[in-house]
Amino acid sequence: MAQEDYYNVLGVDRNASDKEINSAYRKLAKKYHPDLNHEPGAEEKYKEVNEAYEVLHDKQKRAQYDQFGSAGVNGNGQGGFGGGQGYGGFGDFGDIFNDFFGGGSAGSQRQANPTAPQRGQDLDYTLTIDFMDAITGKKTQVSYTRSETCSTCQGTGAEKGTHPITCDKCHGSGYMTVTQKSMLGMIRRQTVCDKCQGRGVIIEHPCQTCHGKGTVDGKNNIEINIPAGIDNGQQLRYEGQGEAGKNGGPYGDLYISYRIKPSKDFERNGNTIYTTVPISFAQATLGDEIDIKTVHGKSKLKIPAGTQPNKKFTLRGEGVPYLRGNGNGDQVTTVQVQIPESINEKQKDALVDFVKAGGGSITPQEKGFFERLKEKLK
Ligand SMILES: [Zn+2]
Ligand SMILES: [Zn+2]
Repeated sequence: MAQEDYYNVLGVDRNASDKEINSAYRKLAKKYHPDLNHEPGAEEKYKEVNEAYEVLHDKQKRAQYDQFGSAGVNGNGQGGFGGGQGYGGFGDFGDIFNDFFGGGSAGSQRQANPTAPQRGQDLDYTLTIDFMDAITGKKTQVSYTRSETCSTCQGTGAEKGTHPITCDKCHGSGYMTVTQKSMLGMIRRQTVCDKCQGRGVIIEHPCQTCHGKGTVDGKNNIEINIPAGIDNGQQLRYEGQGEAGKNGGPYGDLYISYRIKPSKDFERNGNTIYTTVPISFAQATLGDEIDIKTVHGKSKLKIPAGTQPNKKFTLRGEGVPYLRGNGNGDQVTTVQVQIPESINEKQKDALVDFVKAGGGSITPQEKGFFERLKEKLK
């Protein structure tokens, strides 16, 4: 395989400063470090990055490389940089690897102290409720499985009367530092203590109830108040209703996501309710007052004489309550003017009279060509 250009490997240009090279290297080494990146090819890439850095961060080697290419610096494979001479210890790389493994910085998920109280995990729960319950609010029960602090051992994992003891291998830290030889020289790495599995303590007499875990699976039943106005997809937090903490840490939280069933009568968008109501041709023409359904019961709607099909009426305050109090949204009701599909003789006569009274033309006032064109273009 052809040797990739070292500058390309680090993604810097040929007159990059030492600082730029260092910073590019840090980024890439972090990105491809085999402890942090388990994707195929990452390790290969990591090696390339290191190889490039070994050359480019050294003034003399960089000068040789610029002049002779990689042949100049690794002498066709003999000698080169593989031996690690001059790179032993932690001198040059110490600060870089401190970035990886130092006190909880990026890449190190490890707890500084595994015996310190640790908050429990949060839980997600989806609750499907009826359309009207979301409008009016409701008290309801939610029941789910979660881990709970073992009541026999109070979460210590040790049998009554005994105590966990500090792990003698890692002295309670939960991890060990191992020194490994690599192409960079010696690298310090932290690994989980194999004696205590990172817990920092050894439980010689495990609690019979939880088998040393400190937690048991339990069923949690809580009563919740669904707030009036909750909307589809909204999520509410219920403090302390998640999983048990570790080492006496607090419980996590429960997040309930609400799903709201559709209604056959109403459509909802935020706090606005949409409905349609049929009215007759006569009601539209003469005007009327009708009862319409709202989420709060019913409301009067005044249809003015001459109401056109699909006219929308807004009923202030007849919509969904705002979650934080402060009244309701609106209801928007669209009227659908219905044309009778069949009429009797008497109605027919009356309609003919209606037409005659209007001057005899049965067609609506025809619009002129230009007016029709204008409407089309609207
Ligand atoms: Zn240990
Ligand atoms: Zn227990």
